[in-house]
Amino acid sequence: MIEQLRLLVRLQAVDKILFELEEERKAIPARLAELSLEAERLERELTQAKAELEEVTRRRRELEEANETIRTRLRRAENRLMSAKTQREYRAAKAEIEEGKDALKSNDDTLLELMERQEELEGQTSRLEEQHQAVSQQASEERERLTNRATEVEREIQRLTRKREDLCREVDRRLLQQYDFIRQRRQGIAVAPVIGGTCQICHMQLPPQQFNELQRLDKVMSCSSCGRLIYWAEAEAFADL
Ligand SMILES: [Zn+2]
Repeated sequence: MIEQLRLLVRLQAVDKILFELEEERKAIPARLAELSLEAERLERELTQAKAELEEVTRRRRELEEANETIRTRLRRAENRLMSAKTQREYRAAKAEIEEGKDALKSNDDTLLELMERQEELEGQTSRLEEQHQAVSQQASEERERLTNRATEVEREIQRLTRKREDLCREVDRRLLQQYDFIRQRRQGIAVAPVIGGTCQICHMQLPPQQFNELQRLDKVMSCSSCGRLIYWAEAEAFADL
């Protein structure tokens, strides 16, 4: 019986690692998918900032061209003002000059706002470009690390599965069924060590009579609290496991 218990303890150790590796394997695709999210968010922000920058630059160029036209008209009006022969010509030229100056002033106010915005956006796009590059670089390193880890996990799962099969062949059929039954209902842990009379998984103190029986190592017993198979872990027989 002691040999069967030792087998179960070894099987449990393998199954515990297998359980963790399988959890890790399940989590990897989601972690990989998450990796691109930040870079994608930065890319969207960057596209938006670039589009606005383009629009602001275009409006600025338009206004500058409009101002050129106004200045040409102003120069002509000033010439007409100088060479005006009649009051009417003089007033007309004067009015056109006033109008042109007002338009220039209003355009210049808008131009100033556009230039400030353009400067802001240029700063923003270069910051976003830097961030995007850094985040993409990080993500690609992390992707490589995770992909390698996935291969490692897969290999380790295969190795431990073979080891598990070898151990299972040696365990008594009914005991193995019992073990698997409990394991599936108890978060992967079916075997619990007892130290100082206490179940190390559920932390319940065994009744003294049961602990005495357990120390005889002549049968497989269960924890009356968590239902797991228990063994006296302080016994010499388990010291090398
Ligand atoms: Zn227990």
